[in-house]
Amino acid sequence: MSFLTFFNSEKPIFFPDITYSFYDVWADLFRIPYETKALDENFMIRKEDYYGENGGVIFPNPNAPTGVLMPLADIRDIVEHNSDVIVIVDEAYIDFGGETAQSLLKDYENLLIVQTFSKSRSLAGLRIGYAMGSEELIRALNDVKYSFNSYTINRPSILLGVASVEDDAYFRETTAKIVTTREWFKEDMMKRRLSLPDSWANFLFATHRSVSARDIFEAAKKQNIYVRYFAKERIDNYLRITIGTDEEMKAFLTFFDKFENLS
Ligand SMILES: *Cc1c(COP(=O)(O)O)cnc(C)c1O
Repeated sequence: MSFLTFFNSEKPIFFPDITYSFYDVWADLFRIPYETKALDENFMIRKEDYYGENGGVIFPNPNAPTGVLMPLADIRDIVEHNSDVIVIVDEAYIDFGGETAQSLLKDYENLLIVQTFSKSRSLAGLRIGYAMGSEELIRALNDVKYSFNSYTINRPSILLGVASVEDDAYFRETTAKIVTTREWFKEDMMKRRLSLPDSWANFLFATHRSVSARDIFEAAKKQNIYVRYFAKERIDNYLRITIGTDEEMKAFLTFFDKFENLS
């Protein structure tokens, strides 16, 4: 909905070369021209890349599939350099320890923040997402929504979504659990021949110093352990490993140690 509403210029929209895999899909679907900007060697977004003329900007924070978080000052900088277009910050994973850009909303009318119930609220099946921004931006989104798809959220989803928001204690407990598991799992992974950027999401992005990511992926699959492998330039030697329960992460480590001893 945001792509459809705000990205309608002849100029290309900008997003990172390594990012959420749906951005180019939506851009292609809606015939929106786009240009990708390379992350630096540490998988960080280079803010200067987003200064040029464009039809809009979008990036996830933290980014996917890297988990890398961008500081608020850099987001502010990108928003300020793009006052004539809309900058969308996709905070799908913000509840796992990152700092939301909501405090910037009062200063910038061109900033739109989108969040979802699919990750930190464990409610992907309900299909609830939302956007935060100036009155003018929300009005534009509603105009588009009511023109072609008025009832985007069904009644049971609304009721369950409200219940989720009301139970803040449960939300804090479950997100904290993921963060705790992520941190011990990360420490354990770093004791092995793996390296990984600091993750602020509910997954780790890991590369092994001698074994290829594809080999680990294939071997894990045979043990019914599913991690994500991307056959894509620059990241084809990385695995995105989702944080599950403590038992699931221990099962991965057990698999991994056996695998490493054999290879
Ligand atoms: C999951 C995700 C979304 C939105 O997912 P929905 O289930 O469609 O709400 C948006 N951006 C990123 C980066 C995501 O990972």
